[in-house]
Amino acid sequence: MGNVNLEDVRPITRRRNGNDVFSPIFQKRMTPLCKWYFFMRAKILADQRDTPVNPHKAVIEDTRAMAISIKEMVKELGAEIVGIAAYNPSLIYNDADVVDHKYAIVFGMAMKYDIMVDIGPKSQEEVHRVYFTLDEIGVRLTHRIGAYGYGARTHPNTGDFPLPAYGYLAGLGELGKHGCLMSPDLGSSFRLSAVTTDLPLEIDGPQDYGYNDICTSCDICTRFCPGEAISPQKEKIAGVVRWHVDSDKCQPFFSKLFGCKICLSVCPITARAPKLRDSYKEMAKMVRDAKDAAGMLAAIDEATPLHLEQFEGLKFEPKRISDLDRD
Ligand code: SF4
Ligand code: SF4
Repeated sequence: MGNVNLEDVRPITRRRNGNDVFSPIFQKRMTPLCKWYFFMRAKILADQRDTPVNPHKAVIEDTRAMAISIKEMVKELGAEIVGIAAYNPSLIYNDADVVDHKYAIVFGMAMKYDIMVDIGPKSQEEVHRVYFTLDEIGVRLTHRIGAYGYGARTHPNTGDFPLPAYGYLAGLGELGKHGCLMSPDLGSSFRLSAVTTDLPLEIDGPQDYGYNDICTSCDICTRFCPGEAISPQKEKIAGVVRWHVDSDKCQPFFSKLFGCKICLSVCPITARAPKLRDSYKEMAKMVRDAKDAAGMLAAIDEATPLHLEQFEGLKFEPKRISDLDRD
């Protein structure tokens, strides 16, 4: 995503997930802990995403020092990567509220990679553990900013804007062909959240990590995607030329595979992440042995029985919402 031109960006349609068809089975297969994370996020933390604001506003004269202090605070709360982007009211979902904020503090946390390789209930639980932890960090940060006398709002993965785009703008990484952010620190195996605010902060801005060239010559995620959903070429979506995943093709497999994450798991950028390098070795062997999407599904089914027969008779009617965003 190096050198992405956002001049013509416009609000984008939110990905729909065919919940009416798959959600009951999807949720039935969740572990009890996963359901607990789900409840905490949806029913407890979501109500706390906006902060009360201290009427005694702090005067911020040094935005750089304030940004450093906020980033230290985010890491102290448990995030592993953090950066600051300018908030862009055009870079949101078209059903979301525009907030009266200038900055987006974007932060991320790694998923345990050895669990991610096991595509199944355990990795689904790991995804929700990380999202729950990020939501908690977001809510605590939001309220700490409110105590300075400035407005703030938590934006979880189900929030108001596409987090990978803001992660890019905050300098945390670049968008990969698989549609997610790739980070020099956490590879492709992490999740993001954000807090927007009007607290004056110095912005980090995007960085070129050279991933665009790597994705141009790599086809691993496209080859291993069971839905053939990952476009080998960039497309213009909502005014921006970028890598694109067809959510209508992804969704049936995403639902059946406990939140499919094959594209993230096989991405070799993870081998460059210091913390995850050793864990990726097992996946590198799986990639070599499986060779393609069918081979990978067979390997996953052997390691974690998927019981795909539960889905027989269920019909997924994709809504071609992604077409609405094309120019
Ligand atoms: S698997 Fe290859 S093409 Fe896909 S996102 Fe990773 S580096 Fe890019
Ligand atoms: S989540 Fe699965 S189906 Fe969706 S794009 Fe990635 S590999 Fe393909």
